[in-house]
Amino acid sequence: MIFHIITLFPNSFDSYINESILARAIKTKKIKIKFYNPRDFANNKRQVDDRPYGGGPGMVIKAEPVIKAVLKAMGKKTGVKIIFLSPSGKQFDNSYAKKISKTHKEIIIIAGHYEGIDARVKKIFKTEDLTIGPYVLTGGELPAMLIVDVITRQIEGVLGDAQSLEENRNASPEVYTRPESFKYKNKNYKVPKVLLSGNHKEIEEWRQNKNSKIGS
Ligand code: SAM
Repeated sequence: MIFHIITLFPNSFDSYINESILARAIKTKKIKIKFYNPRDFANNKRQVDDRPYGGGPGMVIKAEPVIKAVLKAMGKKTGVKIIFLSPSGKQFDNSYAKKISKTHKEIIIIAGHYEGIDARVKKIFKTEDLTIGPYVLTGGELPAMLIVDVITRQIEGVLGDAQSLEENRNASPEVYTRPESFKYKNKNYKVPKVLLSGNHKEIEEWRQNKNSKIGS
């Protein structure tokens, strides 16, 4: 899977994608992440934003440098999925990630900032507008990282063992490891007995009870 990310702040991705499972997925070539900065496509590199028509606070990112960045990411390919991040888009979830990991080999994700991106970008490319949740962030960089992460763990081989996908097994939101009993402010916090019982059927039942269903 190749993720093409359009962002004014590509450096903000560094620490996250260079650690742990994502770093391994990149190293083993399960995924590739490429960045395109609209500043590199602006006539005057400093001027990628301007005041909003109709008034109001904040600045709007101009359409042209973003369009040029998207075209660069698309190259000669057709049918590339283009995601436009927006707090008022369709809710991104696990089922969406699962589906897209099977149907697409390349995705372009457009991350906005400030007051957002000139709406003509989404009209021109007929993008799919997605939100990561009912809150507003300062920019689309965290949402883009989140989407890359959730889709990446659906790609075969990324988690090492397909069984480690939470949604394929009875994973529990309550997990424990050593020690068996842990003292904090004079109170003992113990691992639930059932997990020490060795009774796999009961353990499965206990996990199922605790399990909050994640979109399949
Ligand atoms: N007024 C803009 C709007 O309603 O789209 C809000 C812009 S927001 C401050 C700046 C950028 O952050 C957006 O263009 C989008 O890329 C990103 N963003 C903020 N919240 C988001 C969310 N919940 N899901 C996805 N992207 C989000």
